[in-house]
Amino acid sequence: MTYTAAEGRYESMRFARCGRSGLRLPAISLGLWHNFGSVDSLENARAMLRRAFDLGITHFDLANNYGPVPGSAEETLGRLLKSDFGAYRDEWVISTKAGYSMWPGPYGDWGSRKSLLASLDQSLRRMGLEYVDIFYSHRPDPETPLEETMGALASAVRAGKALYVGLSRYSPEDTVRAAKILRDLGAPCLIHQTRYHMFERTDEHGLLDTLAQEGIGCIVFSPLAQGLLTDRYLSGLPEDSRAVKSGVFLKPDQITPEKLEKVRALNRLAQARGQSLAQMALAWVLRRPEVTSVLVGASRPEQIADSVGALTYPAFSAEELAAIDAVTLG
Ligand code: NDP
Repeated sequence: MTYTAAEGRYESMRFARCGRSGLRLPAISLGLWHNFGSVDSLENARAMLRRAFDLGITHFDLANNYGPVPGSAEETLGRLLKSDFGAYRDEWVISTKAGYSMWPGPYGDWGSRKSLLASLDQSLRRMGLEYVDIFYSHRPDPETPLEETMGALASAVRAGKALYVGLSRYSPEDTVRAAKILRDLGAPCLIHQTRYHMFERTDEHGLLDTLAQEGIGCIVFSPLAQGLLTDRYLSGLPEDSRAVKSGVFLKPDQITPEKLEKVRALNRLAQARGQSLAQMALAWVLRRPEVTSVLVGASRPEQIADSVGALTYPAFSAEELAAIDAVTLG
């Protein structure tokens, strides 16, 4: 059935300026890493994108290798842009990345100019786009000069194939160096993508400060610890969960009884706040002023609706934050 976006889609989403740029991003963005591949249901992918956009999510995050099979998440997005969302392209921010293994041989991986620019051309073809809004270096390449990788990002902007550029997984020190190179090349770094959640606090000791100082936006990936910080595993390992279905990035043996005990304690704190655990986990990440957007994944539309509900959270009291720290850092 033809899709018409919900009239009220901008009524409840919060938007924040991304670093010192002119671009505003929704507090919640949707990632297509899992559940949008050629092995997954196209109808479910369609339903998730529709629900997300109807709720005001305007930013969709991909990478060359998302699938499986690698590349197929971009193809799924391309198909659905054509059939459902083409009229809304200018309301969407579409991001992609290059830097992880994508095709055989020495040019399908890491951060050379050859690899990044060939990959971006492939991504544009798969999505049927003339440009992406944000093009990222997916990870730092220790063997390629930073000037070369950043030069490739800046070339993408100059060629009109990307509007903005971003970094993912760079250390604070490399971020400062990369940001200077990009500024000098006239393609300032818009955004940095990093992992931060209640169990993963590394960025509180460096990266978040660096991003604020450099005027770079921060988008947090896996804010739900891939589903661990939700109700998914509270009473066992569901057959349709990421840990069981995919089991590569979130392995069943990572969900230990000790970890689950902490998750249950967090769930009780969320219940006391009148929220789902997922909502509390997202609100907790969004409490940091440096964070522009949280980048969630989902396996069904209802999860997206639940996650967007995080925006109506009551602010955390000092006692609640201390209780969360006692569970997660203890
Ligand atoms: P999350 O931490 O948000 O985990 C998503 C999973 O959590 C879902 O697949 C689902 O699990 C579960 N879930 C989501 N919402 C709810 C809810 N409301 N209630 C219950 N369970 C829920 O993020 P991801 O790990 O998926 O990462 C998000 C995005 O970040 C990726 O799609 C990608 O775009 C980006 N990313 C970037 C990386 C980088 O290197 N730059 C690395 C990793 C991710 P289930 O499937 O079991 O139902």
